[in-house]
Amino acid sequence: MNLIKSALLGARNCLCASSRQQRLAQLASTGEVPCSVAFYHRVADTVANGWTMSTQQFREHIDYFQSRMTIVDLAEVQWRVREGHSVDQSMSITFDDGYADNMDYAIPLLIERDIPCTYFVTTQNVINGKPFPHDRDAGQPLQPNTVAQIREMSDAGIEIGCHTRRHIDFSNVHSIEHVRSEIIEAKDELEQMIGRPVHYFAFPFGLPAQLTQAAIEIVHEAGFAGFCSAFGAYNHIGNDWFHIRRFHGDPEFERLVNWCTYDTAKARTEPRVQYFLPPAKSFEQTQAMMPSMPVPHITTFGSFHA
Ligand SMILES: [Zn+2]
Repeated sequence: MNLIKSALLGARNCLCASSRQQRLAQLASTGEVPCSVAFYHRVADTVANGWTMSTQQFREHIDYFQSRMTIVDLAEVQWRVREGHSVDQSMSITFDDGYADNMDYAIPLLIERDIPCTYFVTTQNVINGKPFPHDRDAGQPLQPNTVAQIREMSDAGIEIGCHTRRHIDFSNVHSIEHVRSEIIEAKDELEQMIGRPVHYFAFPFGLPAQLTQAAIEIVHEAGFAGFCSAFGAYNHIGNDWFHIRRFHGDPEFERLVNWCTYDTAKARTEPRVQYFLPPAKSFEQTQAMMPSMPVPHITTFGSFHA
């Protein structure tokens, strides 16, 4: 984004600040402050690209979140959405793919500050040490994390999540066995890797086109407590809690602030994603995955909002 656009958005954020604060105060009074979940990929000061941000930018984001919001894990996001009890602004931090460079700054910073984070891993790249398909295609063979690094993160309290075996685009997969392999086998591989259960799944690319009925059903059948999309949306209170909506941890600070202060225009234009989950079994499975969480209110269709 160029400087003029950034300055204009900054000015707009300033002008909107008091009306947005009023709106958020109103939502807080009824426990309906939408939950924010940001996704990141790679934090590094080398090889800049569309999915990399600098260490300084990342620190500014974390400083901003810590000064203005309550940083929570994904289980609390689901709890707030489900229970209708969200009285302040919250942020949950996630990473996708599994880049080795994140071990140099981002992950140590989060661990040092005791900040919860869910780190979604594409298993085969970590196991084989080969670059992700999108980096290979871009001619930038960046290094994925190693198995030892994923274990180290998990041992340090970072929650490890599943991001398929081969960073698959489900909109192009037409074999149910292939879908199962990318979800169920990936979960098994990851759980063996870290010696702990894996609770969350994030769809590669994460647009509505990738959130297929077949894949969501298998995510559910596999016993995941929820799945993440990445098309840019808030988690509205009382909405479908199995689908966790995320927005980009945008390196352009004013755009991040715009998201974090609740842009109702964005909320109004969020895409609708609908799916069906088999009833009954889903309730028991989810309960088994989250024994410490309160009893959820199950809906059989997902993702509704005004
Ligand atoms: Zn990804």
